[in-house]
Amino acid sequence: MRSVKVATRYLYAPMMLLGMNGAGYYIVATGLSYAWLLLVLVAAIGTAFAAERVLPTHDEWNHSHGDDTANFWHAAVYETSAMSGVVLLPLIAWLVPWDGIWPHGWPLVIQVLLAIVVADFAFTMVHYWSHKLPLLWRLHAVHHGVPRMYGFNGLVRHPLHQSIDMFIGTLPLALAGMPADVALLLGLAISIQLIVQHSNVDYELGPFRNAMSIGRLHHLHHVNWGKEGDCNFGLFTTVWDHMLGTFQAEPSREIKATDLGVDDVPEFPKSYWQQLVFPFVYEPGKGVKSAQAKLPPSSAPSNNHLHPAE
Ligand SMILES: [Zn+2]
Repeated sequence: MRSVKVATRYLYAPMMLLGMNGAGYYIVATGLSYAWLLLVLVAAIGTAFAAERVLPTHDEWNHSHGDDTANFWHAAVYETSAMSGVVLLPLIAWLVPWDGIWPHGWPLVIQVLLAIVVADFAFTMVHYWSHKLPLLWRLHAVHHGVPRMYGFNGLVRHPLHQSIDMFIGTLPLALAGMPADVALLLGLAISIQLIVQHSNVDYELGPFRNAMSIGRLHHLHHVNWGKEGDCNFGLFTTVWDHMLGTFQAEPSREIKATDLGVDDVPEFPKSYWQQLVFPFVYEPGKGVKSAQAKLPPSSAPSNNHLHPAE
């Protein structure tokens, strides 16, 4: 068991980031059906869940916090709308009145890396402003309401925030004429990044620890210690955090399992339906009492079995 733990500690991140994205690249580069990409995504989620059992950062985060059903729906809605975004790309390309400047002639792997570099900047800036602007924070707070870190929580987004995120995050690439192949691989890379970023796995990144926006750096971003989590906004790298002055390598104290969430909403609503309504009843900085009172009575916080169809 010890060797499995050691392997998980050192191989989890490379296996997920290089292995899973490499598999996706192979599928697209060899012209296999795009449906296989879904299998890669399922394999990534399965690997994350298995690694969390072997080497968790906190055992408590492996246990349900009454959030399983809501998180399942978040993941399903996230992936469905991400895929719809790819379908919209040709439409955007058709609508823009110029030929794109996308370097179609470059090797596919370089095109994907270029897309990741541009997306890293755009998504990091949207994330940064989502913490600065109260209107965006209301939506983004749904992501920060998670009481624990585990593989699924990266996909917990308010659909409206995800739409804004994806629209602004990928608009420069869409306008440049990014082809669907590259968009699909970028989408896969973002999904895997979100899974790794929020995994409850005590992995090591060695010399890359402060260069990649995952692991402990992202745990610190999720603490409910007032404004202390307003750091480490990066999606892929910490480059833009260094530029913005928001990079924070170490927490001011040890992060405990109960230290996650939104500080002015200690009892964050747990059902999917409540979380959809949340941004419209939440008053940032004013605590949650008035907001809770306005939440739909049919979806009490203790009820985690609601889903959008209900
Ligand atoms: Zn955030």
